[in-house]
Amino acid sequence: MAAVCVVCKSVLAVDRIRLRYEGRYYEFDRDRCKLIFQENPDRWLDAQGEVLDQPR
Ligand SMILES: [Zn+2]
Repeated sequence: MAAVCVVCKSVLAVDRIRLRYEGRYYEFDRDRCKLIFQENPDRWLDAQGEVLDQPR
């Protein structure tokens, strides 16, 4: 399965953006998606830090 952006679920290219958050790495296709994630990470992750299929 191809890696996708945490926020918009677009398939990631080689120029993906990586962000370390609470000991794990998350990947984004655009700076804007990274900023949306950083505004409220809990919206995108479950209690174990796994990416949710549907944001809260
Ligand atoms: Zn994205």
